[in-house]
Amino acid sequence: MIQTLKRMSEKKYYIGMDLGGTNIKASLYTADFKQIDEMRTPTEAKMGSGIVLDRMKKTIGSLLVNNNVAPEEVLCMGMGIPGLMDREKGISFFSPNFQDWENVPIVEWFQNEFGIPTYIDNDARVNLYGEWYFGAGKGKSNVFLLTLGTGLGAAVIIDGHVLYGATGNVGEIGHMNMYREGRPCRCGSSGCLGRYVSALGLVNTVKERIRGGETSILTEWTKGILENITASMISEAYDLNDRTAVAAMHETGEILGFGLVNVMNLYNPEIIIIGGGMSAAGERLLKKARTIVNERAIRISCEACEIVTASLGDSAGMLGAAVYASTRHQLV
Ligand SMILES: [Zn+2]
Repeated sequence: MIQTLKRMSEKKYYIGMDLGGTNIKASLYTADFKQIDEMRTPTEAKMGSGIVLDRMKKTIGSLLVNNNVAPEEVLCMGMGIPGLMDREKGISFFSPNFQDWENVPIVEWFQNEFGIPTYIDNDARVNLYGEWYFGAGKGKSNVFLLTLGTGLGAAVIIDGHVLYGATGNVGEIGHMNMYREGRPCRCGSSGCLGRYVSALGLVNTVKERIRGGETSILTEWTKGILENITASMISEAYDLNDRTAVAAMHETGEILGFGLVNVMNLYNPEIIIIGGGMSAAGERLLKKARTIVNERAIRISCEACEIVTASLGDSAGMLGAAVYASTRHQLV
């Protein structure tokens, strides 16, 4: 008994990992979620699940070794994983940007490897946990978080509860239908919001406009190879008043606005937090979105809701994963 108590008291760390399509990010935290150290490494998502899992393992291994922490000292570990999963069984079913990634028993794999209790959740949801506990959503009971990156995801808190739904898919805003016949989507439908409002969506809008005959400094910057246009280049062109970039950004902001009208009317949040890499576009995108929301959403819901950008940047996922793991672990 004394032995057990002693061992328990030695456990004093959490690990949070954010598995992204581009980077694996992991942090070591104290028991009160102060960050001790952070590691980032390229995901190499195209190399297949074996390589990705090995890179994740090495990242965690280095985090422990570099900080002189033994696995036994870690209370638990949380991971934000993109795509569909069974979080109870700890299996990642499918992840759209990963090659050879099907039914990966991620929790079992890591628990065998390190002996640390491990929990997984959707990447948007761990971002929400981070922003809710320590960021822009702190102290709020009705929060809608949008992750605006390569694709578009979301997670929701209503009346103080994080929503999951029958199959854990609450908040798939990227597949909200905006056009009955629009750009085809991997989900099998077409005209989905994420096909327009996302880094990929914005880039496609610009490419369509240039191919349709509009001129843009982006053609010059990419020497005519339009495949090389990125969302951040569009922001730069916008700041130079490039007409096509401005029009595409406003068009994207407007579609985002209509998406947020639906969100407000459906969920009645007190705050909408815009996170993800593309939230760096900030007001270039949000100005139009706010105008649409103010004109179209149910007035009383709109007046009660603020729209802000995330405050923890790209650390929200790691921190949120650690927080999420701690909440799951308390229930064990
Ligand atoms: Zn879709």
